[in-house]
Amino acid sequence: MATALAQLRRAVDQLKLSENDWNTLSTPRRILEVAVPLRRDDGRVEMYKGYRVQYSTTRGPSKGGVRFHQDINLEETVALAMLMTWKCALTNLPYGGAKGGVAVDAHTLSLTENERLTRRYTSEILPIIGPERDIPAPDVGTDERNMAWMMDTYSVNAGFAVPSVVTGKPIVLGGSLGRASATGDGVAISTREALKVRGINPQGATVAIQGFGKVGYWAAIALEAMGLKVVAVSDVNGGVTGFKSVEEVFEYSKKNGTIIGAPGTDRLTNEELLHLGVDVLIPAALADSITEATASGVKARIVVEGANAPTTPEGDAILNNKGILVVPDILANSGGVIVSYFEWVQDKQNYFWGAEEVRENLNKILMRAIVEVEDMAKSKKVTWREAAHMLGVSRVAEAHSLRGLYP
Ligand code: GLU
Repeated sequence: MATALAQLRRAVDQLKLSENDWNTLSTPRRILEVAVPLRRDDGRVEMYKGYRVQYSTTRGPSKGGVRFHQDINLEETVALAMLMTWKCALTNLPYGGAKGGVAVDAHTLSLTENERLTRRYTSEILPIIGPERDIPAPDVGTDERNMAWMMDTYSVNAGFAVPSVVTGKPIVLGGSLGRASATGDGVAISTREALKVRGINPQGATVAIQGFGKVGYWAAIALEAMGLKVVAVSDVNGGVTGFKSVEEVFEYSKKNGTIIGAPGTDRLTNEELLHLGVDVLIPAALADSITEATASGVKARIVVEGANAPTTPEGDAILNNKGILVVPDILANSGGVIVSYFEWVQDKQNYFWGAEEVRENLNKILMRAIVEVEDMAKSKKVTWREAAHMLGVSRVAEAHSLRGLYP
């Protein structure tokens, strides 16, 4: 939360907004904390804490993922919902920002436990979600299966199918082509543009990726297709290097539950991965991985933030002093919510696009945001992160002021 608030304070100051604006922008609009009871397969009943935070609904319904992770708490959920708000405004999607989650280690749940927990969580937050109110999506620890259960739970209660209540669904339930890889595809597009700015040839440029989940894996695939060389990846157990292709590591991890021990690879610690002498470093795991302690060892020329809030303000200052170009999370990982928006539009219209249409539109929307950020960074002599926040925050502030204060 401290990171998100510090970034907002800076944007408010740089934009010369008023204290009234700061008060409005720094306050989440609606917070719901729920108890989620889960009957375990062995009959035990456990209670988990669940949250849904609607940080802003000024520019449209709130939008954001649902996280299943043992460390999630209300403060972090608020911070992530705030980031969603600036992300949607930066990319000009007609949404506010939200985030939700359950403080549970998804790895400890059987499939049936996961389903019961997802359905109960959905029914607890049911009164405040909906296609016109707040549209959940996958995040850390959830995927298209969870979205299918959420869609079903909402629809059973409504009495008819409501696909547009969540995004990131399986295709047959109204999901969009290209949504599964969208965040990674956006990370790759951001990397491509950042390489241009730094004058680095993408052919053979080297990349290290921290995190090998929905973001890291798809980013790696897209980057390899662009001609870059992914030299290291990691998961919660540590990193590996020396593999021939990302797909090989992926196949191994599907069978073994971890990338560690993939054939022909050498092991790396997470810190060693962050400090590799590569062109591009992509933190695509959890928050706070590039900190005061780890930033000084970063040798990459470009950092592209696949994860949400992977860099602390202290870490950020060190990267900036070293002249490293940082593509901030709200820009670099916005591909996910951009294609979520396409999915919601398709569901509302009952008209589905081809893969090429999704790809072209993702590129168009993201490129517009990248160019705006680059121009703003140049003209105001600020970092890309500052420029991205200034653009997002100013759009929300303007919408606030045009709507006026009721009553
Ligand atoms: N969880 C993703 C994010 O942090 C996607 C959110 C969405 O699609 O609504 O951007």
